[in-house]
Amino acid sequence: MQHSQLSDARDRFDRRAFCKAGVATAVGLAGASFGSPFAHADLTQEQRDKMTPDEILQQMKAGNERFRSGKPLHRDLMREAQATAKGQYPAAIVFGCVDSRAPAELILDFGIGYIFSGRVAGNVADEDILGSMEFACKAAGSKVVLVMGHTACGAIKGAIDGVQLGNLTALLAKVRPAIEATRYTGERSAKNYEFVDAVARKNVSLTVTNIRERSAVLRDLESTGSIKIAGSMYNLETGVVEFLV
Ligand SMILES: [Zn+2]
Repeated sequence: MQHSQLSDARDRFDRRAFCKAGVATAVGLAGASFGSPFAHADLTQEQRDKMTPDEILQQMKAGNERFRSGKPLHRDLMREAQATAKGQYPAAIVFGCVDSRAPAELILDFGIGYIFSGRVAGNVADEDILGSMEFACKAAGSKVVLVMGHTACGAIKGAIDGVQLGNLTALLAKVRPAIEATRYTGERSAKNYEFVDAVARKNVSLTVTNIRERSAVLRDLESTGSIKIAGSMYNLETGVVEFLV
């Protein structure tokens, strides 16, 4: 980045910080995201490296709070694209569902270069996804693996209904263990959203367990405290990401 761009970015942040001070206090966000590297400019390697996995999870919570309170940060995405073109230092990898209503960057209010983003219908992790997570954490230095399920998930409903369709059949079969492991005494059908969400929640925790069991690389990184593997559920109606740490 050139010097003039750097001072531009700094000016923008100073102005935003000044304008945001009143707003942040009013909505109780002061301290949560204020002054953090996630709240302005680009995420440098130095900023990312000195954060702990817990601090990164905290930034995710703060970003989701900005999203759902209708106060996302103003971002110059093209400037972020140019600033990150020659290198990236993402803090985390978020693994979610392909659902068009659950884009991780938007609901966590992050810019370009902040997170790796992996998506598979029903967020079931195969070895390609595990390899991607290992790349993110071991090779690229990310410190959080966040699995994100969501409410009213079509893949979960399809698995409950036993949908058969081309390659989707094998994918949905990977959700079946979550259906079987879900303890629920009411109507166990795809029409019952409460049951669908209970299965989605169980599916997140099984995916987290799977990651730990099937990836020695990630397991070792977690056991030394270098990374944290966590689950979460995104509520389509309220915009809330619930962290299951
Ligand atoms: Zn889904």
